[in-house]
Amino acid sequence: MFNKILIANRGEIACRVIDTARAMGLRTVAVFSDADAGARHVAMADEAVHIGGPAPAESYLRGDAIIAAARATGAEAIHPGYGFLSENPDFVEAVEAAGLVFVGPSAAAIRKMGLKDAAKHLMEEAGVPVVPGYHGPNQDPEHLSGAADAIGYPVLIKAVAGGGGKGMRKVDDPARFFEALEGAKGEAATAFGNDAVLIEKFIEKPRHIEVQVFGDGTRAVHLFERDCSLQRRHQKVIEEAPAPGMTAEMRAAMGQAAVRAAEAIGYAGAGTVEFIVDGADGLRPDGFWFMEMNTRLQVEHPVTEAITGVDLVEWQLRVAAGEALPARQTDLAIGGHAFEARLYAEDVPRGFLPATGTLAHLAFPDIARCDTGVRAGDTISPWYDPMIAKIVVHGPTREVALKRLDRALSGTEVAGCVTNLAFLRALARHEGFAAGDVDTGLIDRDLESLAADPLACSRSRALAALGVLGLHRGAQPLQGFRLWAPLRRGTQFTYRGEQVAARVETLDAGRFRVEIDAACHEIARDGDRWRIDGQAVAATLVAHGAGVSVFWGNGYHFEPVDPLQVAAEAATGSGVITAPMPGLVKAVHVAPGQSVAAGDRLAILEAMKMEHTLTAWRDGVIAEVLAEAGQQVDEGAALIALEELEEEDEGETA
Ligand code: ADP
Repeated sequence: MFNKILIANRGEIACRVIDTARAMGLRTVAVFSDADAGARHVAMADEAVHIGGPAPAESYLRGDAIIAAARATGAEAIHPGYGFLSENPDFVEAVEAAGLVFVGPSAAAIRKMGLKDAAKHLMEEAGVPVVPGYHGPNQDPEHLSGAADAIGYPVLIKAVAGGGGKGMRKVDDPARFFEALEGAKGEAATAFGNDAVLIEKFIEKPRHIEVQVFGDGTRAVHLFERDCSLQRRHQKVIEEAPAPGMTAEMRAAMGQAAVRAAEAIGYAGAGTVEFIVDGADGLRPDGFWFMEMNTRLQVEHPVTEAITGVDLVEWQLRVAAGEALPARQTDLAIGGHAFEARLYAEDVPRGFLPATGTLAHLAFPDIARCDTGVRAGDTISPWYDPMIAKIVVHGPTREVALKRLDRALSGTEVAGCVTNLAFLRALARHEGFAAGDVDTGLIDRDLESLAADPLACSRSRALAALGVLGLHRGAQPLQGFRLWAPLRRGTQFTYRGEQVAARVETLDAGRFRVEIDAACHEIARDGDRWRIDGQAVAATLVAHGAGVSVFWGNGYHFEPVDPLQVAAEAATGSGVITAPMPGLVKAVHVAPGQSVAAGDRLAILEAMKMEHTLTAWRDGVIAEVLAEAGQQVDEGAALIALEELEEEDEGETA
């Protein structure tokens, strides 16, 4: 076994490989770009080497720099993770030429599976079923159109060098064939520098079922299947193992086909053979076809690990170090059911737009395996894939595992950047998905309801008001306040850019009445939990750098109107607006006697080169204006006073 390995990757997969390497007693070397100097994978590794700028081409794709780092640190092997250089045969050759071990298949095996058309020929020869279609060299549009007619519509045009769904077009109508062909070729030329395409029969209710294989260069075993049919734009969203509805007969047929595929190319290490399955009327042993082979560890490998108990990275390292296959086919069995959900920083209602941001708060549930490359305080940068974590659950049955997925997702807390968490949770609760009725079109068919962003109810908003006022922490004794008068405070914050005004009355320690919108709720702290209107609720309230979040099934995020002003108001707790910091009064917008509503602009203070708008934090009447435009004021200076509230509440608790 090696003493030291280098991980040529970043993010969750680098961390995941380091975990296993460390458990095996190996020392680890991380590599990092300028953008990742403080990243989790760097902190986890025993050593780390800086390899260049933030763009992948300047760092994680620089094979020469990575090999140099391995040599400089004395690493004996390089684990590529997935993506980046993991399927680059030239890199494999360079690693070997440097006298190092590449943890993965040979360059030759990668090349054989690199292009979809060549791979299909090879698979046909090996007796693996392939999707009916044309994958020959003739790229003449007339010829391709003739092939499409022969196959029968609808057809799928695919770039032979394709990946990630690029250069792919479905054609329903022969009249539109040439137009689609041009589109696919153009996209393929731009994305892959190769505009060759193949034509396939389009499978009407397709399911994506893939088989995990593992080889030692000669022999291979399979570790059963994963169903990755829950996709959006050909990107996997939730994966599971085993596939719902799978029969023993079909599993054996698919497993054997996958092993044949791996052995046909002398495959070493972990690989995945992807099949497309016709789900139109149940799973049939003659209803699956080879799509492609991924010659690396796959993002969704944890679901296979969960059901087989195998650590695939451990196997990778053992086989790369020269050991024989760690198990025979008969040693392998399926235990229970597993799901993986991919948690991304993306704005679902805005068309799944990738998002960036600093993770002001991040907490994962205990009931799931959460593979992540980030910690609270880390930034999701625009340079890399915006994945935050993979949430993996396991249970004795699919039903139990799915319930755990739902619970794990609702127990996942992220604040500081938008995520697809609510979307994942809606999927976990989708009826068709629960019934195992999955195909690649499921998400698109129900996109509207799945992508709907849940709205914070008045109870969540009321909780947020406590957080904004800092009343949520520990017991809040009434010391410092007149015990005979209930303490009332107004506050404002924003929810999705809209202002929310609330009035909070402290009834006694840890008990509050909150008026918000048109509602009024009584909230009481109950140990670590909350009771709202007498009912215990499973909500958590977290105040963090970016505001306040209420996690209650979904995450609802609230921002202070102006952190400086809120602090100033909270500090005074009275009807007096004070200067939050020394500054220049730029303008005063109100006069004594004037009625104002919560949120109205009162004055503008220029401080620290910025203008801060001071707004009314409750409805009221201006009692006094104590500052004028042009005046320099000290921190804490009283600027504007609101008339005292009516005495209606006085004496209530006397
Ligand atoms: P890429 O390499 O670009 O990801 P794949 O060949 O792996 O492309 O296909 C991606 C996805 O497209 C599949 O998971 C499946 O959902 C869909 N797909 C591929 N081939 C077909 C087909 N013949 N019929 C229907 N859907 C298909």
